[in-house]
Amino acid sequence: MFKKLLTTLLLMVLVNTAFSQTKTPVDYVNTLMGTDSKQSLSNGNTYPLIGVPWGMHYWTPQTAKNGDGWQYAYAADKIVGFKQTHQPSPWMNDYGQFSIMPVLGMNFTEEKKASWFSHKSETATPYYYSVYLADAAVTAEISPTERAAMMRFTYPQSDSAFIVVDAFHKGSYIRILPEQNKIIGYSTKNSGGVAAGFKNYFVIYFDKAFTTSKTWRDKTMVADSLEISAEHAGAIIGFKTSKREVVTVRIASSFISFEQAEVNLQKELGSKTFEAVKQESKNAWNKQLSRIKVEGGTEDQQKTFYSCLYRTIQFPQKQYEIARDNSIVHYSPYTGKTLAGYMFAGTGFWDTFRALYPFLNLLYPSINVEMQQGLINDYKEGGWLPEWSSPGYRNVMIGNNSASVVADAYIKGLRGYDIEILYEALKHGANNEGPMDAVGRKGVNYYNDLGYVPYDVKINENAARTLEYAYDDFCIAQLAKKLGKPQSEVDLYLKRSQNYRNLFDSQSKLMRGKNKDGSFQSPFNPFKWGDAFTEGNSWHYSWSVFQDIEGLKNLMGGNNDFVKMLDSIFVMEPIFDDNYYGGTIHEIREMQIMNMGQYAHGNQPIQHMLYLYNYAGQPWKSQFHIRNAMNKLYKPEPDGYCGDEDNGQTSAWYVFSALGFYPVCPGTDQYIIGTPLFTKATISLENGKQIIVNAPNSNDKNIYINSLLLNGKKYDQNWLNHFELLKGGALNYIMSPTPNKQRGIAKTAYPFSLSK
Ligand code: CA
Repeated sequence: MFKKLLTTLLLMVLVNTAFSQTKTPVDYVNTLMGTDSKQSLSNGNTYPLIGVPWGMHYWTPQTAKNGDGWQYAYAADKIVGFKQTHQPSPWMNDYGQFSIMPVLGMNFTEEKKASWFSHKSETATPYYYSVYLADAAVTAEISPTERAAMMRFTYPQSDSAFIVVDAFHKGSYIRILPEQNKIIGYSTKNSGGVAAGFKNYFVIYFDKAFTTSKTWRDKTMVADSLEISAEHAGAIIGFKTSKREVVTVRIASSFISFEQAEVNLQKELGSKTFEAVKQESKNAWNKQLSRIKVEGGTEDQQKTFYSCLYRTIQFPQKQYEIARDNSIVHYSPYTGKTLAGYMFAGTGFWDTFRALYPFLNLLYPSINVEMQQGLINDYKEGGWLPEWSSPGYRNVMIGNNSASVVADAYIKGLRGYDIEILYEALKHGANNEGPMDAVGRKGVNYYNDLGYVPYDVKINENAARTLEYAYDDFCIAQLAKKLGKPQSEVDLYLKRSQNYRNLFDSQSKLMRGKNKDGSFQSPFNPFKWGDAFTEGNSWHYSWSVFQDIEGLKNLMGGNNDFVKMLDSIFVMEPIFDDNYYGGTIHEIREMQIMNMGQYAHGNQPIQHMLYLYNYAGQPWKSQFHIRNAMNKLYKPEPDGYCGDEDNGQTSAWYVFSALGFYPVCPGTDQYIIGTPLFTKATISLENGKQIIVNAPNSNDKNIYINSLLLNGKKYDQNWLNHFELLKGGALNYIMSPTPNKQRGIAKTAYPFSLSK
């Protein structure tokens, strides 16, 4: 008996050790976070992205109809295929997509190939996805590489086991090569931003001979052709299977050619086993995710942290491929040609300039060096920097925030690319209207003449444009200074960076649209979304003076009045005027339901605002609200975000905030201090140095900073310097359940502002 007990205990110890040893950062990621979303309400608008960090092709189970941006909805009952995707957001939709689906019987139409599934028989990780397809009685598995993937389908015993390849609508091509167990094809489907003739060429190899090979168009089987070009083309191939027979599929694709797709397949899959691909993919995630190790907090907080970190290292996607001779080449969305060098796509700078790019600059500068080289190619091939690339130029959102993305990278010390060309591109974009509203600067002549884009000249969202252009001008000025450009040039952009003042209405103490003749727009409803602003109201946009919070504060009446304005956000009712949109857009609904007054964390314009108390001597109020936002608005659950995740931006907010600091003004070298969530965070930088954030008594009660030591010395600033952090070192916090109202109150503690 004793011996048996001992054996049992020993076994338990061994099992426990095995568990604790095998848990790696990627095991904390919930890829379903944010997938319980719909058009009318976004809890993230994400899909369970299967891929490797910054990979060129991603995969997702597809529950929606072809072409529907909500391609995977947590609430759905059926899966219709496993889809290659390049979609950054349902609002931007996808391009080059195609899907693969195992079925029983010759069920190739969208309706008939769908299969019931359950989340209880689904394993969703970044590197491996598996689900039981009930109607086909097939277990499907996927593991990805950067430009290829393997799938494994475990069939029941059947005389009619099939696989459907769906090359999607809008012009597709399929060819079945039974003698090679192979299907090739292309999808041309896109949502704009590509050159004429755009194709995503795919090659698919099966490890089993086909007994049936059929092509189809739309909903009709094609009689006797193994090759088809149609509006909507597809293939269905079939075979007999024995019980639990596994069919393995190797897939790669290329935006360049079939030949390059084969090269991608050879280079990335070769003859590797499914298990090997799965392990390599897992390693690829852990390599990036383990750059930050968090300890303490709750298990849910750790899951939220790594789920958010997973989202921050997805976009923009690589759009370049490695040619047979190992040179780097890309399909140009501007010329349609294959050209040398890097290219990326799938990010909107309006969202991601704020925290996502600064995050790359701190944690992953080498990939951002590639991205900057990609921007050089965008400019060379298309004549402009993209503001929303998905891919190429897409005509959505406002601003000229490529200036922030370019300036922040260089100012934070990234090198190894031609910054002079990028500087030229910034000046070009800042002084010209582009080929579409969202590229270059819409209303630039008004802006440069009057110092603002007028409300009454039929340019939409003019106040938001003015505020963002002014910030972008600040970024250009900072870069100009760094590059030693003539003082007159630096001064020109510095002067323009003060243009936010032109829209400040001293009566309401808010930003307000201004007419060409200098009068303010009237009537003015500060709760009106859109109109003079973009996806927000005046209360959200009035803080968009990243470069000069001190100047804004003084306009509002100094410290006390500024803090009152900040406090008001949480005190006011979540009322709104949605007349501009003719309906309640989801971003408005997400503010309304959160019970946080006018605070609208579900969209980007206000996300930095919680940090602004640091500029007015009341950092504890920032600490309170930031901690509240982290704990209330982020959960590692399908409904875990509070609005669109948006290509890593809303996740980067969380990751930075959990570490205890945030880049309020990209283009400067400062991070503004918040409240560290975990008792310990170890940040491993690319330069080999480590930043240790110790907050041993941090918990959900001890949310306020009582004291902070930076490398053993008392540190009372409300900001941290990027280059100090790059040296590595330790931040030691003592947290407290009550605010320390003596810390961070001196004027010298305030962060950078132009007017300071
Ligand atoms: Ca958004």
